[in-house]
Amino acid sequence: MSKKIWVIVESKEGKAHPVSWELLGKARELAGPEDELGAVVVGYKIDSVAQEALEYGATRVYVLDAPVFAYYRNLPFREAIVQLAKKYTPDIILLGATTLGRDLGSAVATSLETGLTADATELALDEKGHLLATRPAFGGNIMATISWPEHKPQMSTVRPRVFPLPQKVATPQGEVIQENIELKEEDIPVKRLEFIPKEKGVNLEYAEVIVAGGKGIAEKKDFELLFELAKLLGGEVGASRAAVDAGFIGYEHQIGQTGKTVRPKVYLGFGISGAVQHRVGMQESDYIIAVNQDPLAQIFSIADLGLVGDLYQILPSLLKRIKELKES
Ligand SMILES: Cc1cc2nc3c(=O)[nH]c(=O)nc-3n(C[C@H](O)[C@H](O)[C@H](O)COP(=O)(O)OP(=O)(O)OC[C@H]3O[C@@H](n4cnc5c(N)ncnc54)[C@H](O)[C@@H]3O)c2cc1C
Repeated sequence: MSKKIWVIVESKEGKAHPVSWELLGKARELAGPEDELGAVVVGYKIDSVAQEALEYGATRVYVLDAPVFAYYRNLPFREAIVQLAKKYTPDIILLGATTLGRDLGSAVATSLETGLTADATELALDEKGHLLATRPAFGGNIMATISWPEHKPQMSTVRPRVFPLPQKVATPQGEVIQENIELKEEDIPVKRLEFIPKEKGVNLEYAEVIVAGGKGIAEKKDFELLFELAKLLGGEVGASRAAVDAGFIGYEHQIGQTGKTVRPKVYLGFGISGAVQHRVGMQESDYIIAVNQDPLAQIFSIADLGLVGDLYQILPSLLKRIKELKES
């Protein structure tokens, strides 16, 4: 029997969050030729996002385009998706595990009285086509695969970057369905009075270059060297859990099973042993450079370039050389 797999496309001011396309790519992989690959696009003036959804392979794009969806609020977005889901009965609904996706996904699941696996890091289907969502549980001590075949839709939020950005399809074949729901601005108690953009935070998941430090860094102040290198290379600073636990840097920089998943073009690790819990968060990086004084460090097993040596000699030399090259 054919299935309907939906992805809720997250967008802001007419620009889609890449996690939505990562999920469409994964859904394409999971779907059979008869299955519907649905993209739900809710917003205001979002034609280009709907078009992009087709280009990423959606076979049906459900569009709700109205001023009440101009910015994210739980109530109108939840209502929109709940009403669509009741009308079209999808089997599976996927969202990015972003701030918006977590807020919206849990509200939709509650309204539809179904289950949701939060923060999944792997998705599969069983032989009957039921969703199997895997995520770290009990502080990352086990990987739990969760399934609840008796309720539909089966829902999951999925961490950004665990799946690659797919190629666009050569000739988009899908159809766009314009939908409407009866919802007036007066019915929505939450209003946006002012918009204050937040200061630039850490964008680890989508950084092209990551300079990461581990417990091989002796002191908190030495992380400044990593920030300097990241700035020179136009990248972000990441860290192992040991460095975060030592108080050298904030949790938002942590890479790994209980941190963030990253896929930069270049990952440079300084004084990181390469424990499996760290590797699962960065092993999909395109090019891995590791600096460690222990030739047997596990990080070298996945490194494209390994430098055995003292990071306190290598890092300053590297900084000096890059500065010289930039100045010349
Ligand atoms: C449930 C669970 C979840 C976890 N989740 C995560 C996670 O999300 N992310 C994560 O990173 N870890 C996680 N961990 C921890 C993980 O198991 C490791 O303990 C951690 O990754 C080790 O960090 P590290 O490599 O910085 O430190 P260490 O293992 O202490 O390694 C330090 C490395 O630095 C090298 N070194 C020391 N001095 C120098 C120097 N001067 N020059 C060059 N090299 C030097 C050493 O040879 C060594 O290899 C988790 C663990 C558990 C049990």
